[in-house]
Amino acid sequence: MESYWLCEDCLQAVAYDDFSALSLYYSEEQVEQRIAHLRTALLALFPLSADFDSETGVGIDPFSTRPCEACASPLQGSRHRFTRL
Ligand SMILES: [Zn+2]
Repeated sequence: MESYWLCEDCLQAVAYDDFSALSLYYSEEQVEQRIAHLRTALLALFPLSADFDSETGVGIDPFSTRPCEACASPLQGSRHRFTRL
């Protein structure tokens, strides 16, 4: 099975289908573009299953400098591991 490290935006999108956090960082038009991009990027990887444990920290990189493996976001921040089923 292949593993992917996803950014916070992708985590929210995959786990909760929730894009509301995006609106904090982008204009309305940018949010729509970003959501469309995320959906396309994530659909290419589906089906994904969460492969991290927020209690033990396994599968979580709290401060990664690598780009997100789904949307290729270069923003530094946390990455969560997902496995392709
Ligand atoms: Zn991402």
